[in-house]
Amino acid sequence: MKAIIFLAPPSAGKGTFAEYLKIKYNFESISTGNILRERALKDENLANLMKTGALISDEIILNIMKDKLATMKNDFILDGVPRTLNQAKILTNMLNELNIKFKVVYVNVDKDVLLNRVLGRATCPKCNRTYNLNIDAFKPLEDNICDDCKVSLVRREDDNEISFLKRLDEYNKNGEEVIKYYKSINNFNIIDNNSIDNTIAKKNLEEILNAD
Ligand code: AMP
Repeated sequence: MKAIIFLAPPSAGKGTFAEYLKIKYNFESISTGNILRERALKDENLANLMKTGALISDEIILNIMKDKLATMKNDFILDGVPRTLNQAKILTNMLNELNIKFKVVYVNVDKDVLLNRVLGRATCPKCNRTYNLNIDAFKPLEDNICDDCKVSLVRREDDNEISFLKRLDEYNKNGEEVIKYYKSINNFNIIDNNSIDNTIAKKNLEEILNAD
């Protein structure tokens, strides 16, 4: 079994890549954000914290990861984790113990492009497919309705400018040492996803996936 760890700022396209690898290679995805959003439906404190864009404690995240990793049967993507150096180091141990090989992919996107994507992002509450109402190529066929599930799309509460800037700040603050760590263990790859047409980014991702 193998895993791809995406390191990427908010709205860099992780969800789109996860969808692509799911369709083409049957990859599963572990998104700590999705798991936490589900928990937050029943946990007001968690919901309020997430609304601000602040990070959730390493302890909670690592417990989630421990449980989730034990259930994986196919190759998978880690979307949104690790976000701190401590998470990264412990995650490496967990993956090694389970004999899961992993590659790290950093998705590079400029801040203004990210903000535009965040402000247009809408998600299907049933299948989690992500659309973008600001970008023609990523709009649903029918206004605000998921193409697959035919239910109304929802906007994330933290997809506003203030909480985006907070999330980006958190990402930049911790991201540097996480990147340094993966570079130090020779496991670091970069793809650029600034363009609306992500064909080249997908091709680069596949090259990384298929390289020895
Ligand atoms: P995401 O969907 O990945 O953008 O995550 C949404 C929110 O969930 C983040 O802003 C954090 O509050 C929380 N979160 C998700 N993953 C993590 C993580 N690995 N460490 C800490 N907080 C996280």
